[in-house]
Amino acid sequence: SGCGICTKRCPFNAVDIINLPEALEDPIHRYGQNMFQLFGLPTINPGSVVGILGPNGIGKSTIIRILSGEMIPNLGNYEEESSWENIINYFKGSQLQNYFNKLSKGQIKVVHKPQMVDLLPRYVKGEVRNLLEQVDERGALESVVKTLDIKPIMDRELSKLSGGELQRIAIAAAVLKDADFYYFDEPTSWLDVRQRLNAVKVIRELTNEGKSVMVIEHDLAALDAISDYVHVLYGQSGGYGVVSHLRGVRVGINAYINGFLREENVRFRKRAIEFEVRPPTPEGEGQVIADYSSLKKSYDGFKLDAEEGEIYYNEIVTAFGPNGIGKTTFAKMLAEVIKPDAGKIKKKVTISYKPQYLDSEFEGSVEEFLYTHAPTYGTNIFKSEIMRPFAIEEILEKKVKDLSGGELQRLSVATTLSKPAEVYLFDEPTAFLDVEQRLVTARAIRKIIENRHAASIIVDHDIVFIDYISDRAMVFYGTPGQEGHATKPTELRSSMNSFLKDVGITFRRDKETRRPRVNKLDSYLDRNQKEIGEYYYLK
Ligand code: ADP
Ligand code: ADP
Ligand code: MG
Ligand code: MG
Repeated sequence: SGCGICTKRCPFNAVDIINLPEALEDPIHRYGQNMFQLFGLPTINPGSVVGILGPNGIGKSTIIRILSGEMIPNLGNYEEESSWENIINYFKGSQLQNYFNKLSKGQIKVVHKPQMVDLLPRYVKGEVRNLLEQVDERGALESVVKTLDIKPIMDRELSKLSGGELQRIAIAAAVLKDADFYYFDEPTSWLDVRQRLNAVKVIRELTNEGKSVMVIEHDLAALDAISDYVHVLYGQSGGYGVVSHLRGVRVGINAYINGFLREENVRFRKRAIEFEVRPPTPEGEGQVIADYSSLKKSYDGFKLDAEEGEIYYNEIVTAFGPNGIGKTTFAKMLAEVIKPDAGKIKKKVTISYKPQYLDSEFEGSVEEFLYTHAPTYGTNIFKSEIMRPFAIEEILEKKVKDLSGGELQRLSVATTLSKPAEVYLFDEPTAFLDVEQRLVTARAIRKIIENRHAASIIVDHDIVFIDYISDRAMVFYGTPGQEGHATKPTELRSSMNSFLKDVGITFRRDKETRRPRVNKLDSYLDRNQKEIGEYYYLK
């Protein structure tokens, strides 16, 4: 691979740049010699939400660090100390001149919700209530706490919270402050579908007060629902990133899906992402690869029961529902990590399982990890079906302990797929992956289960990913943290319908790309689809 621009190997063959703009101007920032360079900055758009869409390692967090004033860009002169004066001069005559001028003088106030919320307890101590009361400059505490469902954890210590709880606290703390510009770096990680849409709601509400908002997001349905405009970022992960023109949200996301930016004349992916509507597997007609009786499991204060179900050869079954409803408990029973209190896996199958929480305690490099954990490592099939799509080569020498969230996820999915098995079971494989990596993961799973005449069960929260990959689906419902029920695997449309009815949202399809889009609450389509019970259009 390679586009001729550099000698590096592109991390994803799916995102090889096929044609690049003739000449890139001077970078806005360069981290050092032979290090990452950023070209261009997003547009500041008062009173609206601008989404940032692009692969990992392309400069998204760098942009937010610059715009929030945490880092003064160096315009490529990495050997000299940078100053705001230079930057203001550089942007003379553009809206960014005014922005940086005011920012450097403290005349505008910015708020930044960082990407890594799990680090929050290191910097902030104490109880949720105290923290949120202290930052409530907008006087919106009550309504934000309600929308984000924070009430049950108001009196908890920050250090005792899960990832999804910390994410909601971090979003709440950001929106409660009274600022001019709000920056959100990946606000949906760890959240379930309902929580994602509630986060969209409280963030969008800022624009009612004329605030300006920028959001980095990999969940296309959430990005679509939150943004008025988007900037697509393209380039080479870890090498350089270019900020495209500002586009309306529909057009921008469609350009991303098509892999082509018309105005810039840049193709950054060989093919468009295609949302094909597969014919549903007729119930009871598939050839059964695995089945289980109804399964029950109780913990102190929580109980799960799952309907008996069958998995067919060559199919991908997705499983979705709120956090704390028993999805991971169910996956662990199938993987025989825990024993059900009642019921059993009837037809014994070999299962290759990727847990939700990944263990990075391995002492040693990725290569050493693969030698001991991936039985097919070194074979040609491993190279073509796994190494290449998951871009494992570029992380081979890194220590497993030093991997980023996305890198560890890629390694885990790759290792799971390298094992010979009849059922491949993934618990939240898209966490920390960018849109391209989610797509690559979906394609790799599909190809491998077809080649090996196997099947796959995938727990996930990304509706666009679920839509793209599912043959059938199962729904988890009940009261999170108390009791959960799982339906048997069934047709995608009816599963999605009952799930969305529970969440209270409807989806339509984009006419051009056929990707699912969230309908605005109480819009004509929303009301109409609810009336006829079509929460999830396939057509
Ligand atoms: P994104 O948010 O799009 O994933 P980032 O803006 O975090 O990307 O990083 C872009 C690139 O810059 C990555 O290759 C990253 O490793 C590199 N980078 C980020 N911060 C630094 C830094 N402080 N020093 C050197 N390189 C950095
Ligand atoms: P999900 O994957 O849908 O978010 P889980 O299966 O992880 O849900 O958890 C469901 C419920 O069971 C949660 O309330 C969780 O706290 C509880 N739970 C999970 N594992 C244990 C355990 N080992 N001991 C006690 N409670 C548990
Ligand atoms: Mg980032
Ligand atoms: Mg789980």
